[in-house]
Amino acid sequence: METSLSLRTPNLLVQHAIEATLAGQPVEARNALAGLPTRKTDLWIPPKLVILTEPPPIGPCQRRKNVPEDQQARLFQRDTFTCRYRGGQALFLPALRLLSLLYPDVFPYDPHGLQEGRVSPARPDATPGHMHYWTHPASADQMRPVVRHGTNDASNLTTACYGCNDWKGERMVEAPAPRPVAGWDGLSGTYETLYEYVIAHSPANDLPYFKKWRQALVTADTAA
Ligand SMILES: [Zn+2]
Repeated sequence: METSLSLRTPNLLVQHAIEATLAGQPVEARNALAGLPTRKTDLWIPPKLVILTEPPPIGPCQRRKNVPEDQQARLFQRDTFTCRYRGGQALFLPALRLLSLLYPDVFPYDPHGLQEGRVSPARPDATPGHMHYWTHPASADQMRPVVRHGTNDASNLTTACYGCNDWKGERMVEAPAPRPVAGWDGLSGTYETLYEYVIAHSPANDLPYFKKWRQALVTADTAA
């Protein structure tokens, strides 16, 4: 059977897993996810950007505030789920987490952030999350970080993949806005259907999280 071997990129493998799931082909979906690279260096490479050397300001800065889900959803749609720092196509994290509920053996998620290849002394039996969670999901990044008095204003926020967000940290980089990827939605367009599927087929253990994101997508669509 032709499975995931012809699919070239991690995003296509994830897309294939979602489509196979919704087509009632869980084995095919599992095979696709099992084909994802598990080493960070196979999933993400650092962007080549100029890092600004301006030192952080001295004195108190405001506390970091979470960006609300509906604001994140609007941001991701504005940026067509394209990472500002590498121009790569980022993915809608809640859709990935639904896949982890369905296929925890090949695509595990750890709510405490334990990374593949590591062990937690406090939780020796914990299954680490798949490395894909540290590279591809879309995140809201403050271009001017909070420690440099950056805010959550839309003009200071950009979409960044987790890999780049982590790499950038509290630095500032010169990164012109990438060209939007026409038609790319981070696979968020499949979220509603996948959510309904998961509810029907397996007891979701973190429903409020998934419901909140479902509403955020609806709100963002209405505002668009
Ligand atoms: Zn990136």
